[in-house]
Amino acid sequence: SREWHLLSRPVGWPKPEDFGLVEAEVAQPGEGQLLVRNKYVSVDPYMRGRMSAAKSYAAPYELNEPMQGGAVGEVVVSNVEGIEPGDHVLHFLGWREYAVVNAKTAVKVDAEAAPLSTYLGVLGMTGLTAYAGLLRTAAFKEGDSVFVSGAAGAVGSQVGQIAKLKGASRVIGSAGSDEKVKLLLEEYGFDAAFNYKNGPVSEQLREAAPDGVDVYFDNVGGDHLEAAIGSLNRDGRIAVCGMISVYNNTEPAPGPKNLSRLIQTRGRIEGFLVGDHYDLQPQFVQEVGGWVRSGELKYRETVVEGIENNLEAFFGVLRGDNIGKMIVKL
Ligand code: NDP
Repeated sequence: SREWHLLSRPVGWPKPEDFGLVEAEVAQPGEGQLLVRNKYVSVDPYMRGRMSAAKSYAAPYELNEPMQGGAVGEVVVSNVEGIEPGDHVLHFLGWREYAVVNAKTAVKVDAEAAPLSTYLGVLGMTGLTAYAGLLRTAAFKEGDSVFVSGAAGAVGSQVGQIAKLKGASRVIGSAGSDEKVKLLLEEYGFDAAFNYKNGPVSEQLREAAPDGVDVYFDNVGGDHLEAAIGSLNRDGRIAVCGMISVYNNTEPAPGPKNLSRLIQTRGRIEGFLVGDHYDLQPQFVQEVGGWVRSGELKYRETVVEGIENNLEAFFGVLRGDNIGKMIVKL
């Protein structure tokens, strides 16, 4: 069985030499454990943080140990009541072909109810991030105008569509290619969208949201955050979900220069972590699952095949190669 190890802690953009695909013996599962053959493995921006030694909400990856992350696989051996070989589970030991999983850290998923990959994306962690961040942290309400960055990605594409479905007055998205912008307008029903690489974000946002924004869902940080503060309306709310534009920085990024606008607007900026919002999971699955089934909420996945391409898929997320959730299929 092959698994990806972190060999050295990347400085700046991670390099292939920082990682190794290692052959390892498949262990036998003990009491309360499962042997799982991974079928779909997730790569996510937050993994960049776990490659650094700095203390954060998720423990750093150990050097010369397999990396971790969301995965869905088929149970091969089960020492657990209620889980049979052939069942599928969602768990956190990705980046490898086979995993010995403590059943307590796994949940059974239904391959009949939805495609297995969706438990990592639209119906999984990134979906709940969009749902909780928009509805709870940003306290979205009908009639709000919503701006979301990273809008063609897994979280962002769902934020924009949920806002539309829940009665946003206007949804504006930004993304890093003209192809992605076209998708936002033509497939996801955004009212306006722009390519942030085509000109200053603040100018493009002012044009796309002439009446300002009530909610900004931040996936990017940097210029985007400053632009959103500049366009914020009275009582505006900014949910800080991610800041992918600074994850590979070696120096702290400068902050927004226009924070004083929060006084005028009585604005609020608040960060959140999806892990604190799993109480919303049943409501999320019911509501968003319904929209996915009815076709009202659309999603894309970018699927890369093969464990040997797991690392390249991760680099692809940092570069913006993906449309929708980036998934590795084994
Ligand atoms: P995405 O599917 O959105 O993939 C990341 C995207 O980021 C890329 O496709 C790329 O698209 C964009 N990007 C990369 N570099 C830059 C840059 N310098 N400026 C602007 N955009 C850039 O990933 P996710 O949906 O999984 O995650 C989105 C964000 O949400 C991330 O910041 C992530 O860390 C955060 N997150 C936070 C969680 C939480 O609990 N707070 C949970 C899950 C995710 P493009 O072509 O548009 O540049």
